This record gives sequence, structure tokens and C-alpha cells, in this order.
Amino acid sequence: MFGTGIAKGLWVTLRYLFRRPFTTQYPEEVRPIPVDARTNLLWFEERCTGCSTCAQACPDGCILVQTSPREDGALNIDRYEIDFRLCMYCGLCVEACPYEAIQAGGPLDDATYFFDELYRDKHALTKMAQKHLHEHDHTYPNGKKAPLEDEIPLHIGKPAERDRVR
Ligand code: SF4
Ligand code: SF4
Repeated sequence: MFGTGIAKGLWVTLRYLFRRPFTTQYPEEVRPIPVDARTNLLWFEERCTGCSTCAQACPDGCILVQTSPREDGALNIDRYEIDFRLCMYCGLCVEACPYEAIQAGGPLDDATYFFDELYRDKHALTKMAQKHLHEHDHTYPNGKKAPLEDEIPLHIGKPAERDRVR
């Protein structure tokens, strides 16, 4: 019938006219964000084996993994770096990692004045990951408990836990 579209449109306008506004006064006010939202990438060194599956899965080529062999047959992770200047947060590296060592989550307010600060080496990535664990009761974004700090070997590249998840 002629005019029903206009009436429907006006009805929607009227309904929202008397509702409270949805506006959030960011950054003073922050809406709750799910812990595993694709806000950033968190790399957990204690879970990483250095297998490079994530780097092979990344379509942008922004993950660099460099390893050297250990006497026990595992790998030392000499370098693990993510170039967030290129990253499009697609999450393919997260899906590809067999050990859930790289997970979606982390800071949303990650803007920087200096472009090159978005290139993060394993120390910067570990700092981000540790900050997340401290703020979330030592729980990974996937809901699993992280080992306590004194259970994580100080020697970088010796994973404490390598449970394959799928
Ligand atoms: S989120 Fe996507 S673009 Fe970013 S590092 Fe992972 S695979 Fe690469
Ligand atoms: S983050 Fe996962 S896929 Fe990437 S090197 Fe470590 S264990 Fe392998």
C-alpha cells in the first residue's frame, strides 16, 4: 500500500526519539570488550615452539620467526617479531597456530605517534602478553590458565607447556 514505507520509517524514528542515546564518551567511558575480541595479537612465548606455522599462514608476511636447534631436539626462538604496520588483524595466524601461542586479544588503544613502534620484537610482544596476564588473573584470552611466573623458565625459548590443542 502506498505510504507504508514512510510510515514504517517514521515509526522507527519515533521509537528511538525517546530512548537514551547510545553514545559512549570514549575515552572517559569504555564499553566492555570481550577478552578475546580481535583487538590485537598476543604472543605467549611459554607456549611457542618456534614451528613458524603462523608465519606461513600470514598473507601479509608480517611475522618473522628465527630459530636455532637445541640439544634436546626442540628449537630456541631467537627472534619472533610481528610487523603491526602491515598486520590487518585477520586472525589467520591465530587459527593456524597448533599450540595457541598466538591469540587474539590485548590492548585496543594501541595507537602510536611513531609508525616504527608498530614493529614489535619478542621482548615487546612478551611485555604486552605479560601485561595482559597480570590484568586478567593469569588467564589467556582463550580462557585457559597461564602458568605462574615462577613456573616459566627464565631462559627465553624454553616453553613450559606445549600441549597441542587440536
Ligand atoms: S592477524 Fe593476519 S595479517 Fe596479522 S599477523 Fe596474523 S595472519 Fe598476519
Ligand atoms: S606462535 Fe604458534 S605457530 Fe607461531 S611459531 Fe609459535 S607455536 Fe608455531
